[in-house]
Amino acid sequence: MHLSRFPRVSLAHLPTPLEPMPRLSAALGDKVNLWIKRDDCTGLSTGGNKTRKLEFLMGEALQLGADTIITQGATQSNHARQTTAAAAKLGLECHVLLEDRTGSEDTAYVYNGNVLLDQLHGSTISKRPGDTDMNAAMEALAAQLRAAGKKPYIIPGGGSNPVGALGYVNCAVELLTQANDRQLKIDHVVHATGSAGTQAGLVLGLEALNSGIPVYGVGVRAPKQKQEEAVFALAERTADYMGLKPSVIAREAVVANSDYVGPGYGLPTESMKEAVTMLARHEAILLDPVYSGKGMAGLIDLVRNDHFERGANIVFLHTGGSVALFGYPEVFDLPGYI
Ligand SMILES: *Cc1c(COP(=O)(O)O)cnc(C)c1O
Repeated sequence: MHLSRFPRVSLAHLPTPLEPMPRLSAALGDKVNLWIKRDDCTGLSTGGNKTRKLEFLMGEALQLGADTIITQGATQSNHARQTTAAAAKLGLECHVLLEDRTGSEDTAYVYNGNVLLDQLHGSTISKRPGDTDMNAAMEALAAQLRAAGKKPYIIPGGGSNPVGALGYVNCAVELLTQANDRQLKIDHVVHATGSAGTQAGLVLGLEALNSGIPVYGVGVRAPKQKQEEAVFALAERTADYMGLKPSVIAREAVVANSDYVGPGYGLPTESMKEAVTMLARHEAILLDPVYSGKGMAGLIDLVRNDHFERGANIVFLHTGGSVALFGYPEVFDLPGYI
């Protein structure tokens, strides 16, 4: 696990804190001990999980002599926001293609939250309809930029390729060190899984280190089978990229549950609203409506239904995203002034 062998730039505040959540644990009957790994605190433009990936992706971009970054995501993409911030910090031009996956024309959704920050960091944003082939769209833009004399570097959606996944191999090393330092035996890690890089890197790192810690991904878009296959395929490619034997990771080590997606990607659910509100009121932690809110909704439901053994130490990996709350102001049925 010698990650210093790979090009990397320092962008994140690491290590992120690992904290107990006593009031949330109590609210769920003290059946399990809930902990939180604060990757919402990676620091870059309010932080989030993409910053760890971008350390390695931007490292490669600089090594290749890129002067321009292209990436894509949904309208309220946290990945796009962290990429625009990283590009600004490194003095690179940045172009973001935003796919309209929800069809919402709400002004807050289309202009506030992450979209506001994308532009504040100096990136151009342009919109594409839902179900556009976004990889082809990025290639087309790259060809235009090359013709204009630029050296573009394309970062895939969510930063999820073997280079980006190294960020979460690194997180596995960091988490295990924290657990060992404080003699905490972690029984499970739970987090929201989307473009698969976070789970692929985490599972690969934890397996390669022989941690014995199972990872449970809560899906936010794809059905279970498809999500697990995407994570497993990327974990295998990342193992290969790192020079590890593909057999280091077993197919059974990749577990996802897509029961908490609701009507679709980025569309609110009752359980997400409950999870976001509960964390804000019990732990003063801000989740987001698209990813960590649904991930936590899954964890809360699983605890309530006795999915985990009593007394288990469960770490929720907080992947960030609270900026997107400002893109969904109507969702939370707040009482207003009294
Ligand atoms: C991107 C993202 C995820 C999912 O991570 P993947 O690596 O895409 O699976 C989870 N939570 C938040 C807040 C995100 O922005």
